Amino acid sequence: IKKNPGEFEFHQAVKEVLESLEPVINVHKEYKEAGILERLVEPERQIIFRVPWVDDQGKVQVNRGYRVEFNSAIGPYKGGLRFHPSVYIGIIKFLGFEQIFKNSLTGTPIGGAKGGSDFDPKGKSDGEVMRFCQSFMTELFRHIGPNTDVPAGDIGVGAREIGYLYGQYKRIKNAFEGSLTGKGLSFGGSLVRKEATGYGLIYLVEEMLKDHGRSLEGTKVVISGSGNVAIYAAEKVQKLGGKVIAMSDSNGYIYDAEGVNLDSIKQIKEVERKRIREYIESHPKAEYHEGCSGIWDIPCDIALPCATQNELNGEAAKKLIKNGCFAVGEGANMPSTPDAIEAFLNNGILFAPAKAANAGGVAISALEMSQNSMRYSWTFDEVDEKLKNIMVNIYKNINDAAKEYGCEGNLVAGANIAGFIKVADAMLAQGIV
Ligand code: NDP
Repeated sequence: IKKNPGEFEFHQAVKEVLESLEPVINVHKEYKEAGILERLVEPERQIIFRVPWVDDQGKVQVNRGYRVEFNSAIGPYKGGLRFHPSVYIGIIKFLGFEQIFKNSLTGTPIGGAKGGSDFDPKGKSDGEVMRFCQSFMTELFRHIGPNTDVPAGDIGVGAREIGYLYGQYKRIKNAFEGSLTGKGLSFGGSLVRKEATGYGLIYLVEEMLKDHGRSLEGTKVVISGSGNVAIYAAEKVQKLGGKVIAMSDSNGYIYDAEGVNLDSIKQIKEVERKRIREYIESHPKAEYHEGCSGIWDIPCDIALPCATQNELNGEAAKKLIKNGCFAVGEGANMPSTPDAIEAFLNNGILFAPAKAANAGGVAISALEMSQNSMRYSWTFDEVDEKLKNIMVNIYKNINDAAKEYGCEGNLVAGANIAGFIKVADAMLAQGIV
């Protein structure tokens, strides 16, 4: 904490991981002797840079850019870019740190990183977003590459931003290479990448439910957010027979007892880039409520926080439990606060933690890298099948790890342990670097 003052989210993420690694460190003294934990919490490299650009009024704007290359023990750095006004080093470091374990869990050879900027794409014209992305890449290009570091999207960075970023990268490097993932299908993107985090979340949740004699069929599901992860999680829930009754954005949430109409949500959020409150214009029986936290007051069977970090606190967790919710799957990164997680685990709620549950996106990004290297594209069904297998395997591995280290049923610990061991062994083998 002294070394990294004010980086609250980073402290929270490290504390959770280190606590659950205690049983592993007690058994594997060699990790302690090699200083694995001390090295793991220190990024290999962090880059902070100026991003100047000119807005539509001709005024110069200056944002701050970040790339934290956290750990490359098992592969090139990999992790998304977040454009949101709340971005500062503490958020990028928490995300980069978690990414190490998540990437390890996917079973693909990728290290952990994260980046982004305090730039807010909301309300900006396409021209402004393009000029910002070009300026951002004008610095970032020297740090990334298909064998070095391969960024992707995250909050505020979707297909449009990745397109602009890739265009500038290609122009500067004079090379058409897989240095970013989440690209458009016409220039090296992978089928299923757009859907991967949301679908992957549901594949893992379905596996967890199956393990406990349940399924999504006939359940009522509340999903926070209405971005990339939330929309495709909702799509898969509906395909598997669940009913999504609420979704949100950063202004408020909608409740539709008849089941949310996803085509309307996609039109509002993906096409028109408007607010979710517009939904009630075309669905007058639905309700809109200002503010996001009330979404967890809605009685449901399954809750899927898919918006942002620390969006579901202890109080919200208690309400969910009281109202009969029996399973929670984290689509966003670190959406549940530590007291919320404690409440879920102490009350027998089936809880799928983010590192495992939302790993589908980066897993398919790794497959996009493979396809780019081979100059080949797999079909939708081929990639979807691989995604499903990866998520089923992740569930099995984290469940087994929890059992092996004496915390059966605690998938938070299971995910941290299973993700950690592979990275720790690689670090051990590579000496003190
Ligand atoms: P998007 O930008 O597509 O959507 C984010 C959604 O969350 C929007 O509905 C947004 O509302 C809402 N939101 C964002 N910030 C806040 C906030 N501070 N308070 C309340 N609501 C907020 O992002 P993604 O769907 O890509 O990402 C969502 C989460 O999933 C993040 O935690 C991300 O790190 C994680 N994730 C994403 C992956 C991916 O493949 N995209 C992979 C793994 C994890 P509004 O529209 O008002 O901005």
